[in-house]
Amino acid sequence: MSHNNSIREIAWGQHTAGRPNSFFKRINDILDMYQLPSFNEIMNQHYNKLDSKNIVRTAISSHWTVKLKADCEEKSTLKLLSKRNLNIGQTHNVWETISSSVKDVRKATTKVHMLTGTYMLQTLKVKFNQAEIDPTCPICKLEPEDLQHLLTSCPAYRHIRKSHFQQIKEYIVSKN
Ligand SMILES: [Zn+2]
Repeated sequence: MSHNNSIREIAWGQHTAGRPNSFFKRINDILDMYQLPSFNEIMNQHYNKLDSKNIVRTAISSHWTVKLKADCEEKSTLKLLSKRNLNIGQTHNVWETISSSVKDVRKATTKVHMLTGTYMLQTLKVKFNQAEIDPTCPICKLEPEDLQHLLTSCPAYRHIRKSHFQQIKEYIVSKN
């Protein structure tokens, strides 16, 4: 009997013994969770190394992508992320569209904080601090400083917004 065959026999023996906390029971649970072929199917069919790697990679990515997309519906930090480009194992386009310059990475970091609702604005500081914090925008002092205020109405950033306004307007119009 070859070495591989004896390993197969041991594996079959352990599997059929069906002990509740055995390694093989856990393997079965994991295969089930990722909707992968069962232990029996794997043992009876001869997958080559590359095929099995691809099958496992695809199954794990799709399982966690479904979970991540479901989390987007419930978690406030994920609600602004575009689900279309959100896949496990794929770089988000905020990171895909920048160069590796320090300046670009800093900009993208800010963007990611804004997209995930973790950019430290006054209204967020109020949520996380027990001490008295004034939610008013510290720059213009006109409204509470939330993301909408910062991006669309704070007069302190009007000149920056104005330079991008036409482009933003065209984009929004093209999407409607
Ligand atoms: Zn302001």
